[in-house]
Amino acid sequence: MVPNGKSSPDALKKRSQFKSKHPLAGKEHDSKPAKQDTSQTKSEKKNAHLIDSINDFPKKIPPLFRSRMGQVPDGLIALEQQYEPQKEEQEIHPDFVQDPLEEEQCHSASPLLLQKYRGRALMLAGRTCPIHCRFCFRRHRPTLSKEQHEESLEYALDAIETDTSLREVILSGGDPLTLDDSTLGLVVQRLSALAHLERIRVHTRVPIVTPERITHSLLDNLCNSRLPTVIVLHTNHPSELDTAASQAIKALRERGVLLLHQGVLLRGLNDSAEVLNTLFKRLISLGVTPYYLHLLDPVAGSAHFSVPDEDGITLIHRLRQLLPGYMVPRLAREIPGKQSKTILA
Ligand code: SF4
Repeated sequence: MVPNGKSSPDALKKRSQFKSKHPLAGKEHDSKPAKQDTSQTKSEKKNAHLIDSINDFPKKIPPLFRSRMGQVPDGLIALEQQYEPQKEEQEIHPDFVQDPLEEEQCHSASPLLLQKYRGRALMLAGRTCPIHCRFCFRRHRPTLSKEQHEESLEYALDAIETDTSLREVILSGGDPLTLDDSTLGLVVQRLSALAHLERIRVHTRVPIVTPERITHSLLDNLCNSRLPTVIVLHTNHPSELDTAASQAIKALRERGVLLLHQGVLLRGLNDSAEVLNTLFKRLISLGVTPYYLHLLDPVAGSAHFSVPDEDGITLIHRLRQLLPGYMVPRLAREIPGKQSKTILA
């Protein structure tokens, strides 16, 4: 049950039936280092520093996105660093665990619903993502079957309906904009009908990775709501903001969506004032406000991306010398169990 929520007997019965069918729901989860996979793949044979897949998080890069990144300066660097599996992912680091934010302990009504912050519910609305980011802190979450996902969505919406302490629902990854139009529209309509909600927030990479998905139909289903829509766009490198992504962002702006940005500080990709300066200037020119720059969450398989906190703080101070204050995001770390992010600079 969502904390503070009042559940009807029917809803409780449905959730209990759900948990017996899907033991993942509400299960306490030990954070353990990922298993080491020493098997050799075709790609390894071809290219010594890349591997084709990591057991539970295979490579996924849409061909069109790959082709777009091949046409812009540094695009292939951004592509390789963020989305191509690296052999370092197989190294075991004791502080890098499967569930670094302990999210498995934050849900019980549905595997898709997390209650981490007061007044806000986090719904992992999409079943999949348009791309697999190698640093993703949810990379070890199991993918639900289509049937499990549909059922879990239903239970999540039921729980949100009964918890009148909620003001905002955050739709997050699995990317919400990978839902088909009618399911997305249904989710938005169910949320819009709840008098206690004041806004819907969507965290997404879709406008960057698959901008062709931002169709009139998607926009109709997303924005046809009494609730203001906030989109938090995830990108980490200026090369990703090419013409196609810019057009998708413009289409969202034209529907009155408030656009914010969040990114992750990644070693070797964007841990320089030069790259971040270009990224934030480009975002502002597209009408997207830099909001959070996250320090890496210590998920198993991502240690090679880690940037020390003090280097991140130095970078933010440098950027504040180069850019107006509103163009520099807050440097944040998420600490499990805390009611809000910890701001470092
Ligand atoms: S799109 Fe978001 S949720 Fe999906 S793999 Fe990338 S970082 Fe993770």
